[in-house]
Amino acid sequence: MSERFSFTLNATDGAARTGVIHTPRGEIRTPAFMPVGTAGTVKAMMPDSVRATGADILLGNTYHLMLRPTAERIAALGGLHRFMNWERPILTDSGGFQVMSLANLRKLTEEGVRFSSHIDGSKHMLSPERSMEIQRLLGSDIVMCFDECPALPAEDKVVAESMRLSMRWARRSREAFGDRPGHALFGIMQGGVTQDLREESAKALVEIGFEGYAIGGLAVGEGQEAMFGVLDYAPGFLPEDKPRYLMGVGKPDDIVGAVERGVDMMDCVLPSRSGRTGQGWTRRGAVNLRNARHRDDPRPLDEACGCPACRNYSRAYLHHVVRADEIIGSMLLTWHNLQYYQDLMQGLRDAIAAGSLAGFVAAFHENRARGDIEPL
Ligand SMILES: [Zn+2]
Repeated sequence: MSERFSFTLNATDGAARTGVIHTPRGEIRTPAFMPVGTAGTVKAMMPDSVRATGADILLGNTYHLMLRPTAERIAALGGLHRFMNWERPILTDSGGFQVMSLANLRKLTEEGVRFSSHIDGSKHMLSPERSMEIQRLLGSDIVMCFDECPALPAEDKVVAESMRLSMRWARRSREAFGDRPGHALFGIMQGGVTQDLREESAKALVEIGFEGYAIGGLAVGEGQEAMFGVLDYAPGFLPEDKPRYLMGVGKPDDIVGAVERGVDMMDCVLPSRSGRTGQGWTRRGAVNLRNARHRDDPRPLDEACGCPACRNYSRAYLHHVVRADEIIGSMLLTWHNLQYYQDLMQGLRDAIAAGSLAGFVAAFHENRARGDIEPL
């Protein structure tokens, strides 16, 4: 196992890339999908089960963990890996995005953001320095710069000012992070859907220097076409020899389109959250297990899937437990959805390595266009 953080690019196919991120806690195969473990757990899943789906890395949320149970408590108990029984790599966000979207009574200044907890109203401060301290206390392997992200659509002037503030915070994050061998700090590109601002942001980040670069400020309501529009040029502003992370994305077709455009890492709550509402993602699109058409259906949710929900249970059973609000319904559908996402990533990695990504992507869209299997 590597003692340092590094990235090896193994193959490319068009703009798409496949490689390996090496960390002291294990390797991350890219393109990688990171399940979200918001509050120290991927909801409805045991850590061994998450690993069994093929996940190499999890994401944890600074905002949630700093409020409850607190970063200081987790540090005293041996760090987040031991606390949640996940010994492989963890990436933590900076708290910036969630403090802007979840917290009450926030006040944004050059120093950072003052806010009240959405849980109990207690007062807190997040700044680049405090975010680096919290992510160090958690023991995160990949630390994200503290940044600000305006909701889209927004005027260019607003996006530009926000981006420049984030770049000043990126420099402060780099200084506060210090020298931590084996750990990585990622800068976050901002600039909305404006190419000049994206380029300015990338230049500012590359000048500071990071172990990886995120493309932030997308998947915030701009729509897939606008997102792909940015991804047609934004990855090209970033160094080829560093991983590129698209934050908060997405649906399966968002992921495929992002990988085609040169993205290496992604995260999203969608597979786990939709699993808890009775939605299953399959090779032929999304399936609502609440629907009465599944009531007498003995077939698996997705016959090509090797997860326990598909190997051991029928659509009729999944329909029953979802409708009866049984906990196993959330467990099985979350497992299935995470398995589907990891199988998709494996398919993308294999196709890029074989130089056959275009064929893989065409088959992906064809299968989805067929829609779900015919009712019995
Ligand atoms: Zn399955």
